[in-house]
Amino acid sequence: MPEIREDLITGGMVIIATERSKRPQDFTHVNEPPKGSKSCVFCYGKEAATPPEIIAIRPGGGLPDCPGWTVRAFPNKFPAVTAAGNPDYINVGGRKAVKAVGAHEVIVDTPEHNQTFGQLPDTCAEQAMEVIASRYRHLSGDLRFQYIQVFKNSGAAAGASLEHSHWQIITVPLVPETVAREIKGTESFWEANGECAYCRMIAEEKNNGSRVIEQTKEFVVLTPFASRFPYETWIIPTKHEPFFEKTGIEEIKALGRTVRRSIRRLERTLCRPPYNLTIHACPAGIKSRSYHWHIKIMPRLSTIAGFEMGSGIHINPVSPEMAAGLLRETQPDIQDDSGMNGVEAND
Ligand SMILES: [Zn+2]
Ligand SMILES: [Zn+2]
Ligand SMILES: [Zn+2]
Repeated sequence: MPEIREDLITGGMVIIATERSKRPQDFTHVNEPPKGSKSCVFCYGKEAATPPEIIAIRPGGGLPDCPGWTVRAFPNKFPAVTAAGNPDYINVGGRKAVKAVGAHEVIVDTPEHNQTFGQLPDTCAEQAMEVIASRYRHLSGDLRFQYIQVFKNSGAAAGASLEHSHWQIITVPLVPETVAREIKGTESFWEANGECAYCRMIAEEKNNGSRVIEQTKEFVVLTPFASRFPYETWIIPTKHEPFFEKTGIEEIKALGRTVRRSIRRLERTLCRPPYNLTIHACPAGIKSRSYHWHIKIMPRLSTIAGFEMGSGIHINPVSPEMAAGLLRETQPDIQDDSGMNGVEAND
């Protein structure tokens, strides 16, 4: 029977349409034929084609903007926001607008054109997360940047214009509605129950078990009760912490490994699906004790259509319980793609 489920924090609704239930092989997402590394500016030796680097990891030393790196961060060549000035109000024909002042950065997490984040050695995944965290910490010190969005688009259907694996950070001079709604949700939950909604969720999910994909000392990986997307995966730190910039180095390294494994499970279960990954954390300027930072990975297997656009309610044809079961069974430590659609191999 199809169910309407509500998100614990935002009250957002989804229809889990089990009647339409799909197995991984029923999804017909077509991966674009690879463009290859020829014109790719994120590859080794093309460093001069990007803006000068901000930070890089070069295990063997070497000069900036030269090969030898494993992770490399630089400003986006075509930024969505402007780095200069203050986010003042401006008058646009009688209507109020704000100058879109912010940073827009790119973090390339591998010099290898065809390597996915899920295929990285654990040390490289750790280094990528260390660079991301270091940029986040740096940007959170700039008071003009009220919100920092870290995200990863993978695959053309998820909005990646370049196929070479990378992350992006965009800061905006205000707190976006999506995050404001989550903060408000955790505040009300705390007022009503005297505890954090995400901490409660972790405890309940561990107890129930049917939606848990993986647990470590530092993180719980699960498919949320009200999953909007098939195989939607959340990574939640076990330690209550609103601010991503306060996360310690060992936890950041563990996060790199956990994200890598979570992506690898999706890649092997669903044959490298297009996906978006986002980090949600409390903005430095908001003194919330009730928020709890987390990561969402959203595979883009189904199209958002009229019903979703009109109602804001997503229809998800895969129950999160089934998705968690399949992802849990999939081995995340195989780099080789030959056994992909790992589910059948594991059945
Ligand atoms: Zn490349
Ligand atoms: Zn918490
Ligand atoms: Zn969130």
